[in-house]
Amino acid sequence: MSKCCNNKDAEPNSSDPCNPPTPSCCIGTTPTGGDGPITWFDDMVPRSIEYAEEQKRAGKKIVGIMCEYTPRELIMAADGVPVCLCGGSAAMIPKAEETLPANLCPLIKSTYGYSVEKANPFLEMADLLVAETTCDGKKKMYELLSRNRPMHVLELPQKPDDPTAFEHWLEELRKLKIAMESTFGTDITDCKLKKAILAMNRERKLRRDLAALMTSDAPPLTGHELLNMKSLISCITSDIEQYEKALEILPGRTLSPPAEDRIRVLLTGVPMPHGAERVMDIIEDNGGLVVCQENCTGLKPILEDVDADATDPLRAIAEKYFHLPCSVMTKNDARLDLIKNLSNEYRPDCVIELIWQACLTYDIESARVRELVEEEIKLPYLKIETDYSPSDSARITVRVQALFETIRGR
Ligand code: SF4
Ligand code: SF4
Repeated sequence: MSKCCNNKDAEPNSSDPCNPPTPSCCIGTTPTGGDGPITWFDDMVPRSIEYAEEQKRAGKKIVGIMCEYTPRELIMAADGVPVCLCGGSAAMIPKAEETLPANLCPLIKSTYGYSVEKANPFLEMADLLVAETTCDGKKKMYELLSRNRPMHVLELPQKPDDPTAFEHWLEELRKLKIAMESTFGTDITDCKLKKAILAMNRERKLRRDLAALMTSDAPPLTGHELLNMKSLISCITSDIEQYEKALEILPGRTLSPPAEDRIRVLLTGVPMPHGAERVMDIIEDNGGLVVCQENCTGLKPILEDVDADATDPLRAIAEKYFHLPCSVMTKNDARLDLIKNLSNEYRPDCVIELIWQACLTYDIESARVRELVEEEIKLPYLKIETDYSPSDSARITVRVQALFETIRGR
């Protein structure tokens, strides 16, 4: 009998492929309560489901989004509730692989698997999906998803320095605005746009301030705790209150083992959706502390606000989102600048880059990131390419431990 079968009483451990922690999943969970801002977000998924159901009953439209280029402000101004649908569950992948190639990014497969299994309550209650032309895998998956779900695709220009690119993007947002106005029977006024901009700016500022706690020599949070402190749905009043509370009480908190004894890590690369935090856990279970998350589930989408005083709010929204430095852009020099600035601010001991299997854009761009980190920032760099399966956890653990030993030995 295999080790897995003999070891059923062992504690779940992110480094043990036979006994990984149970992946998070949307199905059948109910809020269990919890006090304090950190435990508050433990119930984020069931609470978001309840919130979305309430909003739908009140006549709001549920709009599924799958990328940080999709402006939540525009959806909110259309009386919509934008909900992130990115899949982080390995359990959804086998069903997706009956249609999609196995050698595809797990985030795409998991998102699609939820659709096939009808297992994502947000997707099932969505009145519209807003997709975007980013990587090839997503674009082609969207074609399949749109066969039985209403979808609007934003065409994202991918040469950010091209003189016509921004106007094209603005036009795409205008088309989305018109489509939502006609589908939802609503007017998206400048006043509604401004209200949504202010709400999103406030949330981004609170989340930036929380992330900034990690610049301290003794950060009060682990990277995983910080990653958890956000919702699939933005601007829920009770979440905003918890961010404010967190900013009041967390600065006095100490970690055990102490943060000062851990290796500070800047994590870059692909987003880490809810349920796919395995690599974060491996880093933090082996003496690391992820002080900075540059990716789309971390700082990247919240660093810039929308100009709330702009005379043309739609243009202002388009500008903020157009500046997002994703690897689907060519060239994507802004991401390298961002990593350099964040390194100065968060003072990591090393940079770890996570690449989901078959994510060609981040994988190829990693050559430039490695060069930047090793030759210019002069820090050790480690690239981890993996998927949602825990089968390579032991191998990743060995590589992370070796990196940390080297750093401690210096
Ligand atoms: S990494 Fe790129 S494609 Fe993925 S969510 Fe971020 S902006 Fe969108
Ligand atoms: S991680 Fe890469 S392959 Fe996966 S959806 Fe994002 S950009 Fe596409």
